Amino acid sequence: MSLVVMKFGGTSVADLSKIANAARKVQQEVENGHNVIVIVSAMSGKTNELVGWVSETSTFYDAREYDAVVSSGENVTAGLMALTLQEMGVAARSWQGWQVPLQTNSAHGAARILDIPCENLNSKFDQGMNVAVVAGFQGVSPEGRITTLGRGGSDTTAVAFAAAFKAQRCDIYTDVDGIYTTDPRIVSKARKMEKISYEEMLELASLGAKVLQTRSVELAMRYKVPLRVLSSFEDDISETAGTYVCDEEEIMEDNVVSGVAYSRDEAKITLVSVADRPGVAAAIFVPLAEAGVNVDMIVQNISEEGRTDMTFSCPTNEIARAQKALETAKGSGTINFHGLVVDDLVAKVSIVGVGMRSHAGIAAKMFEVLAKEGVNIRVITTSEIKVSVLIDRKYMELAVRALHDAFELEKAT
Ligand code: ADP
Ligand code: ASP
Ligand code: MG
Repeated sequence: MSLVVMKFGGTSVADLSKIANAARKVQQEVENGHNVIVIVSAMSGKTNELVGWVSETSTFYDAREYDAVVSSGENVTAGLMALTLQEMGVAARSWQGWQVPLQTNSAHGAARILDIPCENLNSKFDQGMNVAVVAGFQGVSPEGRITTLGRGGSDTTAVAFAAAFKAQRCDIYTDVDGIYTTDPRIVSKARKMEKISYEEMLELASLGAKVLQTRSVELAMRYKVPLRVLSSFEDDISETAGTYVCDEEEIMEDNVVSGVAYSRDEAKITLVSVADRPGVAAAIFVPLAEAGVNVDMIVQNISEEGRTDMTFSCPTNEIARAQKALETAKGSGTINFHGLVVDDLVAKVSIVGVGMRSHAGIAAKMFEVLAKEGVNIRVITTSEIKVSVLIDRKYMELAVRALHDAFELEKAT
């Protein structure tokens, strides 16, 4: 029997009536002749609340207990979804990650999936179960502890199940009806795309477009999972609804820039007056890596009299950890700097497009657009298919709109 994976995000299961609405879509797929693996997120706002409780209880918390707490939101929605389906007469049951078991490594808070054995679910499908409802975002470590896959991780659970069970499709149901040229909540003119390449979606996701978790796109690209994003609040779930993430060759559109992404919660940390000698970057960034700080952009300023300033960016919720790691390294004599300056009011704005590989001057145009808007650029990074800038957070939305306009993303070419 053919199998599809359907994932419902937080807003799609925000209350009992929304769970019922999602369940009706599942029922429809069962009536279409499919078995279904349903992946559910926690009710919207729940995970934030749980994370808040953990931080309030402990600043440098035990990550294993963080996972024990924050994974719990998904358990509730999995059970409720199974109950709702049963009430509709659909043969369904719920599974928590450890019951499947969805096996991960021990990197609590950002665990990676190692394996999803199919036997348990398949034996239930063989016995007549039509729907397995699985709690997203969670797994179990080799030590038998509950792990989570990082924020937005239910997308990754969904794609991983689709790959493991060789599902016909992986449908990500959310509160927008597809993937847009930028966040439609910020730019009303944003255009819904029919298709986007794995590679571009991977960049957009990793640069902040939270419509799909980065790791989910990576997995979909590696295992060639047919991945689609569509609305749980619209009736159309036919094959033409939503946006497909697919190979570049399948796409006819030819925009040089295909999307604009932003990431609001960025911080910029400057080590003032660091002794500039071989090994200085390693002395700074090794302890940060060991402390689990996700360093993103880096700039080293011109050196004067053997000393330099080193600036890097990281997510705002990692500032305390970064400061602690750097002060500890200073205390032990491995780095020598005069001060730490933290700016937690910056944001990152990026343009993405595979067309940039063959077009020059795209970065220059981006800088011109921002200059015209009076936006000061603090840090720049580029790759083959993206340009990112770090700017003051208060200009973030203005920058996204100006770039979307300047590159005419509302038009498909
Ligand atoms: P869910 O709770 O269903 O996982 P998310 O909030 O994680 O949903 O992701 C959906 C949101 O992603 C949308 O509401 C939208 O604001 C945001 N978003 C950001 N960039 C884009 C984009 N390029 N296209 C569509 N949505 C985007
Ligand atoms: N509930 C988790 C989160 O909010 C996972 C998810 O929704 O994908 O991050
Ligand atoms: Mg999400």
